[in-house]
Amino acid sequence: MQTNQEHDMHSKQDVKSIWSSVLTMLKEEISDVSFQTWFEPVEPLSMSSNTLTLGVQSGIYKNMIMTKYYSLIESALVAVAGETYQIEVVCLDEVSNPKPESAPVAAPGKVFNPKFTFSNFVVGNNNSLARAASLAVSENIGNSIHNPLFLYGGSGLGKTHLLHAIANNAQLFHSNLKVVYITTENLMNDYVNALLALTSDKKSVQKFKDKYRNVDLFLVDDIQFVGGRDGFQEEFFHTFNELYDNGRQIVLTSDRLPGEIPKLEERLRTRFNMGLLADVQPPDFEMRIAILKSKIQSEYFDVDDEILRYIAENIRSNVRDLEGAVKKMLLYSSIQRTNRITLELAEQALKDIFQVTKKKLTVASIIDVVEKYFSWPKGSLVSQRRPKSVSYPRQIAMYLCREVADMSLPDIGRDFGGRNHTTVIHAVNKINEDIRTKPETEKTVAILTENVIKN
Ligand code: ADP
Ligand code: MG
Repeated sequence: MQTNQEHDMHSKQDVKSIWSSVLTMLKEEISDVSFQTWFEPVEPLSMSSNTLTLGVQSGIYKNMIMTKYYSLIESALVAVAGETYQIEVVCLDEVSNPKPESAPVAAPGKVFNPKFTFSNFVVGNNNSLARAASLAVSENIGNSIHNPLFLYGGSGLGKTHLLHAIANNAQLFHSNLKVVYITTENLMNDYVNALLALTSDKKSVQKFKDKYRNVDLFLVDDIQFVGGRDGFQEEFFHTFNELYDNGRQIVLTSDRLPGEIPKLEERLRTRFNMGLLADVQPPDFEMRIAILKSKIQSEYFDVDDEILRYIAENIRSNVRDLEGAVKKMLLYSSIQRTNRITLELAEQALKDIFQVTKKKLTVASIIDVVEKYFSWPKGSLVSQRRPKSVSYPRQIAMYLCREVADMSLPDIGRDFGGRNHTTVIHAVNKINEDIRTKPETEKTVAILTENVIKN
């Protein structure tokens, strides 16, 4: 379990006043629309000795702040507080349903998401094999008997946590290890970009190969999404073989067994089955209590057993939700300025998790907003036969589905007239890039985001 660390937190009041000075400075730097859209809804949550944590409504705000405004905020903070702080943005709706960050490729020696370690991974019957195998792999890179290690099981059961723990631990044992952690989505994305770049850079695909075939530890998350683009499976097959033949360690995660992954080529399935398959199962009651205790302990709160039992009886499916409940309670208690967690407070927090109070956004409702805004007839964005000029609104609509509504890539592709999810990835990247470089796009996205949310 996690060891206590010094936190050195600023008081809520300090954080508020620091943030308001930062805002005053930012206001001078950016346009009114941008300020109102991206900064007015931000809530400063806390500030430790090195990190300022901001709360926002949804992924799109987080995305915008992290990609476009990070350095601006960072320098304003230096001016206000006299020191450099890291900025962390959390989605308030994810507080009840958090997603771990996917750290892309890290240079040798770089720490991965440090929150995910073996020491704070609670072990039980449901995950002991997966954990033991992961630990063994991390200690024996290059000599492991489990290659590839294939971790599978439902969402929110700790697979991504284990991948990061392997990366973190392996780097303690082996200095200068080249480690890549990547989601299948990002890997495909990188591959598609390499293909697209071929026209201007003859070496782009070669660079892709060099990047991924030259690592000691290759951690690929959510491999169930691999079925899509044919060329990608071919490329992945060769990457896999090259790594495997050279004794490099491969770890894959999936929400299902290799045999159940749609469109997975036979030759890849065979390879995924070659090493050890280890599952993670939903936690039983005792395990749920143990997880709650560990999450609460690591946040310095003391909660009655009665309350823990209440939560463990009500949240059964996955660890992510248990963690969400704890975070929500802590958030509520900090709003109420108490560290005493009562049953009433727990009930309040849980009610929030069970009740989907947020309006359910659908692809159709987002398309509707975007079509209206650009004055395209209904159905234009989905149609296969429309002129090229509709592709920009369509990309924006895909971007909103992904970033505001947090929908899955395959779902978005399907509802946009059966398009491939790599098309969606491309659209999201394109708009992200445009937001960074073109003020008009940023403004359009800002307005549409409001329309989508308020619609
Ligand atoms: P998956 O990748 O299987 O969907 P994650 O690894 O993202 O799940 O886990 C979801 C959340 O639950 C993470 O915050 C993770 O730290 C936490 N978690 C999952 N399993 C455990 C465990 N056994 N002990 C502690 N935390 C866990
Ligand atoms: Mg995961």
